[in-house]
Amino acid sequence: MSDDRLRMTPGPTEIPDDVRERMSEPTWNPDVEPEFVEFYRKLTDKLEAIYGGDDVAILGGEGILGLEAAVASLVDEGDRVLCLSNGIYGDGFADFVDLYGGEAETCKSPSTGPLDLEAIEETLADGAFDVATMVHCETPTGTLNDLEPVLDLLAEHDVLSIVDAVSSLGGAPVPTEQIDVCLGASQKCFSAPPGLTVLSVSDRAWERIEETETRSFYADLEPWRTAADEGWFPYTHLTSNLVALDAAIDRLLEEGLEAVFDRHEEAARVCRKRARELGLSLYPESDDLASPTVTALHVEGRAADLQQRVQAEHGIVLSTGLAHLEDDVLRVGHMGHNARVERVERTMDALEAVLE
Ligand SMILES: *Cc1c(COP(=O)(O)O)cnc(C)c1O
Repeated sequence: MSDDRLRMTPGPTEIPDDVRERMSEPTWNPDVEPEFVEFYRKLTDKLEAIYGGDDVAILGGEGILGLEAAVASLVDEGDRVLCLSNGIYGDGFADFVDLYGGEAETCKSPSTGPLDLEAIEETLADGAFDVATMVHCETPTGTLNDLEPVLDLLAEHDVLSIVDAVSSLGGAPVPTEQIDVCLGASQKCFSAPPGLTVLSVSDRAWERIEETETRSFYADLEPWRTAADEGWFPYTHLTSNLVALDAAIDRLLEEGLEAVFDRHEEAARVCRKRARELGLSLYPESDDLASPTVTALHVEGRAADLQQRVQAEHGIVLSTGLAHLEDDVLRVGHMGHNARVERVERTMDALEAVLE
């Protein structure tokens, strides 16, 4: 396939040519060639630098695998799990908890606002929870949750945290030092092809994982504790995807995390400014809640039409909303390689032309 479309979606993101080209290189047989293990270890070391400390594992599977694996591996039959939510991904954790026999209690905040700290505090005071789940960037609404005060509360109550940072890791600072299991994926801010989940695991989370009776093989995190050291993986790893991710991570580390975060902030700022100039309202309206990686625009019933016209007339691919927001929200991803002001300007010029 060869085309010159610009894909400004909130994942999968546009993949730089050198990352894409690395996928076509010959790679090791990961089951028999020790060079693979060496390569995997080095890649997890680089990711540990991005995560800031804890052990990192890379699983073969799209980001959703990480969400499922975290719940499957930390939640035992009857465990009480507090699911904090102000959006679709936050709600979704409760389904995984049900699936693996845990008792989910969702503490729901409106999708237009922040996580409600008071409500969280009350719920925590009401009962003992083993684990809490939450989302850093709610991609469907472009909301970045301020997790530090939430994680402080969980620490006070000795509750382990699982955080979905799939659409913020590598694009915005994530308070990883307070998080037990922090989930990311290759196809969002890393701008590598879809297919890999990355996650960090704290020591106390590993202990819990070892104690938990996991009702899954593919989604069990336990073997990943020793995989790199012992050179034994529970399945054949996705070498071509890993090689591409390695190239993407090298680009990111070369540019420097601070510079990368600034680039995201700048792209988001321009996107929101241009949207307001076009008379579009933003979701969320407050800049304090806005994610630097994705902007959600309120377009009342016109999402599919605008998306199709921007793509057909300008060759730029955008996303509509998800679930109940499908018709009313149009989303511009400015994450990873696409977090560049020129690309956002080009996108908003196209949207402006279509709106006129
Ligand atoms: C993209 C994303 C995932 C991974 O799921 P998809 O199948 O790619 O939608 C998980 N969580 C969040 C917050 C995401 O943005």
